[in-house]
Amino acid sequence: MDIKVVKFGGTSMADAESIKKVCNIIKSDKQRRFVVVSAPGKRSGDDIKVTDLLYSCAHELQISGDISEYFQKIKSRFKKIVSDLKLNFDIDTVLNEVEKGIYVNRTMEYAASRGEYLSARILSEYLGYNFIDAKDIVFFNEKGQLDEEKTNAKTAAVLCNLDNAVVPGFYGADITGTVKTFSRGGSDVTGAIIAKAVNASVYENWTDVNGFMCTDPRIVKNPKRIEKLSYKELRELSYMGANVLHPESIFPLKSAGIPINIRNTFEPENSGTMILPEINEKDNGSLITGIAGKKNFALISIEKSMMNSELGFARKVLTILEEYEISFEHMPSGIDTLCVIVAESELMGKSDAVIQKITHTVNPDHIELTNGIALIATVGHGMAFKPGTAAKLFKALSDADINVKMIDQGSSELNIIVAVADVDYEKAIEAIYNQFFMQK
Ligand code: ADP
Ligand code: ASP
Ligand code: MG
Repeated sequence: MDIKVVKFGGTSMADAESIKKVCNIIKSDKQRRFVVVSAPGKRSGDDIKVTDLLYSCAHELQISGDISEYFQKIKSRFKKIVSDLKLNFDIDTVLNEVEKGIYVNRTMEYAASRGEYLSARILSEYLGYNFIDAKDIVFFNEKGQLDEEKTNAKTAAVLCNLDNAVVPGFYGADITGTVKTFSRGGSDVTGAIIAKAVNASVYENWTDVNGFMCTDPRIVKNPKRIEKLSYKELRELSYMGANVLHPESIFPLKSAGIPINIRNTFEPENSGTMILPEINEKDNGSLITGIAGKKNFALISIEKSMMNSELGFARKVLTILEEYEISFEHMPSGIDTLCVIVAESELMGKSDAVIQKITHTVNPDHIELTNGIALIATVGHGMAFKPGTAAKLFKALSDADINVKMIDQGSSELNIIVAVADVDYEKAIEAIYNQFFMQK
């Protein structure tokens, strides 16, 4: 029988009501044997995610050495879930152990991981499934990156002996055995790791929307759902800010070609979005697949006459960024201009020194740093087959009176990236969406 791996995000695990829905989804299909969960998320707009409460706890531990007041909020959330589920489970003992563990381990990452740990303990009790701790099967290497080989071997060896299991998402162990987390949203990666290890027929990622939308539903009301998406398109869209799925989720699945199905826990009858290794775009009909974006970038513009004939100009600029441990996103260039886009967070506290060093090293005619830049990616394999995508994109932006500060089209013909001012971000996304998806 085929195996399905199912991952439930924070909203799905937020309270007893949603956990009952999770349980119904799992129990309605015998193939759904391996389950990955997030920590309880927001129950309403102004609620706080358990992971954020845990980060506050860890912060408080560093400041005052006493987390009792902060940890009380976490205790009451989990105690309410257990009592509302009418579960016969000694959550008090587990919570006390976790509180002690936070004092002993003292790291941000350990504290942050406990939301997933507790969530998985509770769901495994409720379902009557085995609990497998992620720290025993997910491993990071000495560089802090996922050790895919070791993780896959151990996960496969442990899970192949079991009929079922619930595994907490978001964390694993480093080379010393200490708990380490992925970046935010990382439970999606754990789900992909498990799907690969058990050779699942599909990795179902259950969340709070009806699939991957053509753009961010927080910006455009009720955007169209994408029915099928390729791995490459997913990578571009999720890296560029479509945070419905963590951008690293496809790596474990790539070699086995396992599809991802994004589904809605609150509308399980909706078929969601299928993410496949490849899709035949010629049949798809649409010019683009989706739009995503991120704010808070900085643009370093460098101008120098005859720059193009100066050997090693770009290398010298990039070497300076490397020295300051700044990674860059894009580097479009003209005849006498070079533009480097970096996240503002990368430049924090270093911008003056970096600009000075570049000025000193390459002696430009003009150098300028502009903050408050947003990047918007318009993505789709379709643009390789049909001309006119760029024309439509720029018409949309110019009709909306938006000034484009940079353009970058990758060689893949899968993606056109434009930079606009942060303040124009939402307006630009709406304009592009309307142009491609609302007009005939
Ligand atoms: P989970 O807790 O289930 O992992 P997330 O909050 O991480 O859920 O991701 C789902 C959210 O992603 C949605 O509620 C939506 O607001 C946001 N989102 C951003 N871009 C998109 C998109 N293109 N399609 C769908 N959802 C998106
Ligand atoms: N709970 C973690 C977060 O909020 C991980 C996840 O939900 O995937 O980032
Ligand atoms: Mg998520």
